[in-house]
Amino acid sequence: MNLAESPVRRFIHIVLISSIFLLNLQTVFPQTTRSKTSRGPSRNKTISNIVREIDAHHIEHTIRQLVSFGTRNTLSEQRDPRRGIGAARDWLYDEFLKAAAASNGRMTVEKQSFEQPKAARVPQPTMLTNIVATLKGTQPQSTDRIYVVSGHYDSMCNTPTDAKCDAPGANDDASGTAVVLEMARVMAKYEFDATLIFVAVAGEEQGLLGSTYFAEQAKQKNWNVDAMFTNDIVGNTLGGNGVRDRTTLRVFSEGVPSSETTAEANTRRSVGGENDSPSRQLARFIKETATSYVPQMNVTLIYRRDRYLRGGDHIPFLERGYPAVRFTEPNEEFRHQHQNVRIENGVQFGDLPEFVDFAYIANVARVNAASLAMLASAPARPRDVVILTTRLTNDTDLNWEANVEPDLSGYEVVWRDTTSPVWTNSKFVGNVTTFTMKGMSKDNYFFGVRAIDKDGNRSQVTYPHPSGRTAPAVTSPGTTSN
Ligand SMILES: [Zn+2]
Repeated sequence: MNLAESPVRRFIHIVLISSIFLLNLQTVFPQTTRSKTSRGPSRNKTISNIVREIDAHHIEHTIRQLVSFGTRNTLSEQRDPRRGIGAARDWLYDEFLKAAAASNGRMTVEKQSFEQPKAARVPQPTMLTNIVATLKGTQPQSTDRIYVVSGHYDSMCNTPTDAKCDAPGANDDASGTAVVLEMARVMAKYEFDATLIFVAVAGEEQGLLGSTYFAEQAKQKNWNVDAMFTNDIVGNTLGGNGVRDRTTLRVFSEGVPSSETTAEANTRRSVGGENDSPSRQLARFIKETATSYVPQMNVTLIYRRDRYLRGGDHIPFLERGYPAVRFTEPNEEFRHQHQNVRIENGVQFGDLPEFVDFAYIANVARVNAASLAMLASAPARPRDVVILTTRLTNDTDLNWEANVEPDLSGYEVVWRDTTSPVWTNSKFVGNVTTFTMKGMSKDNYFFGVRAIDKDGNRSQVTYPHPSGRTAPAVTSPGTTSN
């Protein structure tokens, strides 16, 4: 028998090759490196179950049903049970109620209706209705912390005020609405510390009217909306550029906060932070969570508020100081958005179901659901994180307010080079509210702090603000100064 061809030898060969391959993979894709004192990533079983239960067939059913109402233009018929936005509104309300049945009374569903006065795309006062499903958090210390996820169920063809034309809106935005409904269906039976709100808004195409009303109500009621996601145009995987991409999902986040004050702008000009808004921390959190729980998807961070010439339902939240991001497919096909359904020179125009990819939309829902479940299971992000500027030092002194959750384990300090787009390192520092990073100058790195509970669920990162004077006084060499 020739030893070179023996099964044993072949086996050893395969093992050797695979270990070299794995070693190389680790060098190419280093995950957030954690120093020895830090805790490794731990799996949250609930999140894995939710990701598994999300079903493309339900998403397809929702999209086809919404398309069947002919048009969902906000100005269309409200009382016809078969055609127009009223039919879509009532169908969605019933579907959210069905989802709530599995929640043991923790999920409530309401029609949030209001009269929209005349506006640029609203020729006469019109009733608008958002469908709002609230899954109450179960930890008393966290139940007031709210996460909102939305899609818009209204649609349009070429002209936003044309209420009669067919406007199937399969991608824009039955896709996002289906993501939200599917998450409500799957997540309603699970318990989370914090509260989740699933919303199908109207009036997006009329000027973000439904989301503006919701965000304004939240602000007036002083709600603690810790994060908001909008899913808009999340269903097409063949771009107008001919590129087929079924694995990339864009997350848009603003750098400089829409709600920034003059004092905050002065600090930013002095010590940086234009890449560290709360919305950008949220986007990084989503990418990290998706990498762990939805590895088949490539979450691409886009460092801008939205695409050129376009806006979305996250903007009214940003303007009111709430962190928010937008999810959108990687390559858009403009022949299938805001178009009258027609064939021109053999080319089909219109936002039809045949141009959306249900399996892809299910993966979008998984990225959303994993991120929301982690946000609502983890402690709150630490409040009032401060970089002390009371001494001249090559160390970095941090302190923050203590979290109130009973299941808190402690905190991690995270850091990165100032040119890195994402956090690269972290260190578990225990259940303390002050920590000094010895030998690491705050001038050379960006730092942040996040909270961890006893199950290993991590919060978003809080970016610190400097204590005391932010602009150093001009002094002669040799004198110390802040
Ligand atoms: Zn849209």
